[in-house]
Amino acid sequence: MSQEESPITRRQMLGDATRYAALGGIGSLSAWLFYKRSGQAAAACPSSSSTCGECSQAAGCRLPQIWQIDPNRCIACDRCQTNCVLDLSAVKAVNCFALCGYCDNCTGYFPTKDYVLDTGAENQLCPTGAIARMYIDKQGGVPYFEYTIDESLCIACGKCVVGCRLMNGSLYLQVRHDRCLNCNECSIAVACPAEAFCRVPADSPRLLSRAAQAAEEALARKRSSHDKSSKGIEMRVGGTS
Ligand code: SF4
Ligand code: SF4
Ligand code: SF4
Repeated sequence: MSQEESPITRRQMLGDATRYAALGGIGSLSAWLFYKRSGQAAAACPSSSSTCGECSQAAGCRLPQIWQIDPNRCIACDRCQTNCVLDLSAVKAVNCFALCGYCDNCTGYFPTKDYVLDTGAENQLCPTGAIARMYIDKQGGVPYFEYTIDESLCIACGKCVVGCRLMNGSLYLQVRHDRCLNCNECSIAVACPAEAFCRVPADSPRLLSRAAQAAEEALARKRSSHDKSSKGIEMRVGGTS
């Protein structure tokens, strides 16, 4: 189901706004922690390229760079789990809520066979129970669920990412910079079979798939037009999800 077709509208948009604010906060906090640890001063990248490898000025660039996964290339193998120098990988699964279908039968949460629709550990695809499934609404007789990752439990096995690709593909893997040591030679990058690990400017550490980028832009436009149409009208929506 596409985001445009989803009946979860105003309520979801407000939830999204809250989550994006939180994600932005996490990103900023991570970048700040990175700068603090490395002793480098924050500087804004002037290029519109999303990765340093795509930037024509890369050869002379002295701005801080960090590792990130390009979701357009990642095949969600298990090497992010096994090849990080940290005991618990710096890579974590992330859900793009703008792209998520909020499916009852989530193929990133449930295996494809021999399961029932409940949250028993035996019915979960995730080997560590890192994905929380929360009922949020029922519309037109169809229940909707929100899926969030407990990053302290995620081991970056990629199983949920592979499963989610059977539907919307909203789950993807990203390097978390509050954990990553920013090794000069990242051992996952060396082992990655898809050349999905790349350097990005430290001030824009997030990389989205093309579908997720399009979904976030569509949602931002929808939020903007909603804000304009509701200007001056008191909002009476309780909660975010
Ligand atoms: S090693 Fe590469 S392809 Fe495999 S999960 Fe990590 S980024 Fe994706
Ligand atoms: S990447 Fe693996 S451990 Fe992390 S949430 Fe997905 S299935 Fe669970
Ligand atoms: S740079 Fe080092 S700590 Fe970060 S993901 Fe790669 S191996 Fe792990």
